[in-house]
Amino acid sequence: MRRAFALALAVIALSGCAPRAQSSTVFAMDTVMELTAYGPRQAVDGAVSLIHEAEDRLSVTAEDSDIARVNGSGGGEVDGDTASLLKRALELCKLTDGALDITVYPLVRAWGFTTGAYRVPGEEEIGSLLEKVDYSAVTLEGNTVTLPEGALLDLGAVAKGWVSDRIAAGFREAGVRSGLINLGGNVMALGKKPDGSDWSVGIRDPFSEGLLGAVSVRDSAVVTSGGYQRYFEENGVRYCHIIDPRTGRPADSGLASVTVVGAEGVLCDGLSTAVYVMGLEAASQLWRENSGFELVLVTDGGEVLVTEGLEDVFKPMDVYKDGEIRVIRRD
Ligand code: AMP
Ligand code: MG
Repeated sequence: MRRAFALALAVIALSGCAPRAQSSTVFAMDTVMELTAYGPRQAVDGAVSLIHEAEDRLSVTAEDSDIARVNGSGGGEVDGDTASLLKRALELCKLTDGALDITVYPLVRAWGFTTGAYRVPGEEEIGSLLEKVDYSAVTLEGNTVTLPEGALLDLGAVAKGWVSDRIAAGFREAGVRSGLINLGGNVMALGKKPDGSDWSVGIRDPFSEGLLGAVSVRDSAVVTSGGYQRYFEENGVRYCHIIDPRTGRPADSGLASVTVVGAEGVLCDGLSTAVYVMGLEAASQLWRENSGFELVLVTDGGEVLVTEGLEDVFKPMDVYKDGEIRVIRRD
């Protein structure tokens, strides 16, 4: 009798410390998103609303988003949330010396990545559109944005990472201590798994449908940018959706994919795009001069490199185990 009572107590205690998983799948921001929280249902429902609100405000194509309004009239007042993302995005443009440039949209559009009407613009067209690209000419005072003549904003390179930060904050506020936020390759692992082990987040192999490997993390974003994610081919040449703001052409830095791991989703998202543009050498230097993130880089030749903070955390898949994984070190 006493044993049965002790057992019942143990069962109650166990179920008390492992709340049930609540999940939702959402199609938004051009991708399939999967949310899981070990905690109250309202936490996940709140996250779904947050995603739709963010999309309505930030979409560059939706007619009356904050961004479309600003682009249509050269500036104006935006929502406080949009302003705070814009502020962080401009800091990241500066940090990456313009490899991330949220004013590169005229070129993204000219290459057809907005509509899917892909084309290769001529030299002259690229040259004249490049004159409009300069994040440093964008001003933000309070919630008021001013754009130089002809400039257009696009927060597509940072929006999902930022949303993942917001969702993680909402989860924490709702008492969720464990959760996984997957915004289409833009992952945020909240806390640890309910069993106390780290989350294992897979990284896509840029050359196949399979995985390159996985990283074991907790309280961390894992964000990948790669040429394989969106591209078109013309006359045997592949053109990807990440534009090098220095040339106005799809980035061709020798990297096939870039994964950034760190606590802040928006930083990881912005850097994944920027590092894809910068290439191996500039990326290694950026990593050495800054903290708060680690990198997994795959070169066009198939070489895999990780920064030293991931040395014990990155687990390659079998196909990559034979090949050497190079470690980028601080000195
Ligand atoms: P991501 O998938 O996070 O790497 O972001 C790529 C998206 O950001 C593209 O689809 C464009 O909308 C936009 N973009 C492309 N190149 C750049 C760039 N160099 N800086 C900022 N945004 C860019
Ligand atoms: Mg990005």
